[in-house]
Amino acid sequence: MNDKIKLMKELIEKIDLYNYHYYTLDAPIVSDKEYDEVYYKLVDLENETNTILPNSPTQRVGGEILTQFTKRKHQYKLYSLMKVRSFEDLNKWLEEMREFDKDTDFALEYKFDGLQLVLEYDKGEFVCATTRGNGEIGEDVTAQVRTIASVPLTISYQHKLLVQGEGMMTKKAFEIYNRKAEVPLKNTRNGVAGAIRNLDPKETAKRKLDFFCYSIIFCEKKFKTQEEMNKFLKENGFNVGDYFKVCHTLEELVENIETVGRKKNEFQVDIDGMVIKVNDVSPREEIGFTNKFPKWARAFKFEAEETSTILEDVLWQVGRSGKVSPIAVLEPVELAGATISRATLNNIEDIRKKNVYLKSRVFIRRSNEVIPEVLGLAEKYEDSQIIEEPQFCPCCNSKLIKKGPLIFCKNHDGCKEQIVARLTHFVSRNAFDIVGLSEKTISQFYDELGLRHFSDLYTLTKDQLVGLEKFKDKKAENVLSALEKSKHIDLSRFLLGLGISEVGEKTAKDLAKKFKSLNAIKSATFDEILVIEDIGEIIAQNIVDFFKDDDNLDEIERLLSVGVAPRYENTLVSNKLEGLSFVLTGTLPNMQRSEMTKLIESHGGKTTSSVSKLTSFVVAGEDAGSKLEKAKSLNIPILSEEEFLTKFIDN
Ligand code: NAD
Repeated sequence: MNDKIKLMKELIEKIDLYNYHYYTLDAPIVSDKEYDEVYYKLVDLENETNTILPNSPTQRVGGEILTQFTKRKHQYKLYSLMKVRSFEDLNKWLEEMREFDKDTDFALEYKFDGLQLVLEYDKGEFVCATTRGNGEIGEDVTAQVRTIASVPLTISYQHKLLVQGEGMMTKKAFEIYNRKAEVPLKNTRNGVAGAIRNLDPKETAKRKLDFFCYSIIFCEKKFKTQEEMNKFLKENGFNVGDYFKVCHTLEELVENIETVGRKKNEFQVDIDGMVIKVNDVSPREEIGFTNKFPKWARAFKFEAEETSTILEDVLWQVGRSGKVSPIAVLEPVELAGATISRATLNNIEDIRKKNVYLKSRVFIRRSNEVIPEVLGLAEKYEDSQIIEEPQFCPCCNSKLIKKGPLIFCKNHDGCKEQIVARLTHFVSRNAFDIVGLSEKTISQFYDELGLRHFSDLYTLTKDQLVGLEKFKDKKAENVLSALEKSKHIDLSRFLLGLGISEVGEKTAKDLAKKFKSLNAIKSATFDEILVIEDIGEIIAQNIVDFFKDDDNLDEIERLLSVGVAPRYENTLVSNKLEGLSFVLTGTLPNMQRSEMTKLIESHGGKTTSSVSKLTSFVVAGEDAGSKLEKAKSLNIPILSEEEFLTKFIDN
């Protein structure tokens, strides 16, 4: 027992330190995931030992208040939210709530990940704003909150009103701010907390914050349900967000929580979970509060996407254009269902701005489908060392050249990593599609068969291949037959395979469609290329430069002479969608989105990834998210897959 108490004391000390950095300084030294692990270890020990030590953080809201701000005592105590750690936990709580009212409904809302604020209004005017602080006393941030455009300064309700909500920084505002920031913000939560708790309101204004309102703390008017409350808030000009659902069963809650969880990365604001509240307001009083939480609400947190770990090393990787990019080698750490040991660091300037060091602790993030990235420094230690900018190519040792924040190896024809990367891109699925040739095999061909140019691939013989380790007859035959087949290639795939700087699949397709032959593209002028929508000056210049380069022209000639024959295939079935622009969103019932894109393109239409005034139609399937919302707000016609087919194709 004594050991457990000792451990609890240690945990409290740790949490106090974390709280100080997070709540008071707005500069956390561990991620929320790591914080929650320590916090729940303490909660579990308190339950096990049936002991709560004096001043335990499990009984307190928030942290210390910044002394630079004027303090304000809250008229009504503010609370945090108790988290459910599983759907089983959630079900237990639903059962408890049903003891108060067996037919109770539950309101489901976003859990906004920002800074809680209380706003006071009187006689229809905004009076003051206060941070949650420790729940009893907060900081007066009236001047700062005045700068938030979505905080109404006058409202129609003319009596005293206290509302509660979250100050937020949108992902867009975060990105714009970070583009110019000397020290980039690590995440939107730190962005908003640091902006509101900044003594200079001009600084707050620069971060273009938002306010989402989710509760009324005091109002003479009485509300029956959370829904009614939200309606009133909306009518008075508050932004309540675009999500609110009333659910009755665990299944409904789970389904909706999971749906939002899948889509949350598409939203403009960061949400870290969902809040479930007893929808009826009147039983809340009876259900009551603990020292720290309302008993009538729970938070369900989504799986964390941020954590911290040690930056062990930085590898400099040479890409196919010769760009030398830093890759962070991390002490392996579990995050969002995967073990992370590598992350991107962008470039040397980014490393300096993020202030990260070798052997320092860094924050990292991994969200769906995105390569993990290093966000910034968590903690620097005595043995942390500066990350040196490389002067020589890590592969071929030639002197590196710097262009702005980027570093290049100019040894185009002699640097193995560059050549292997170029060849790997050439054989990739969307380009020449040579199955069986991975980066590793290409590297083996480089070392053992002297492979250097794309055209060398077409001179490979079966004898050469079977002589290599791990190459049996069958594999050699497959590679040779894929190479043979690839000679009759669509012009756009051919262009993609050449690896022209910044020419991806879409640009390659656009070029092929416009010029229709390799010769026409080779002789196209800058202005002729620039006419293509979506191709800007930099890419147009890259294309012109590529086809002016003698080495590139020689290589194209060699490819043609070994029998590669790029041809523009007009796959246009009709022109009936010409001039129309579509956005596809959600899961379509019968088609993959890529199939639908092909179908639209084959009838002369085009698809884009974001909704704007120029979008002609949005085709929406199940679980459509923010794009559907945007289409509604811009009055863009929305079609289901079936409606699209009936309207445009099946007639
Ligand atoms: P919390 O932020 O997890 O949840 C409670 C808060 O959610 C409320 O106070 C309110 O501000 C907000 N909220 C958002 N949407 C809401 C809605 N629709 N209805 C009601 N409230 C809503 O709890 P907390 O007590 O503010 O902070 C604890 C959490 O903060 C920890 O679990 C951890 O994730 C993080 N933290 C991290 C560190 C660190 O060092 N990284 C330190 C302290 C706390």
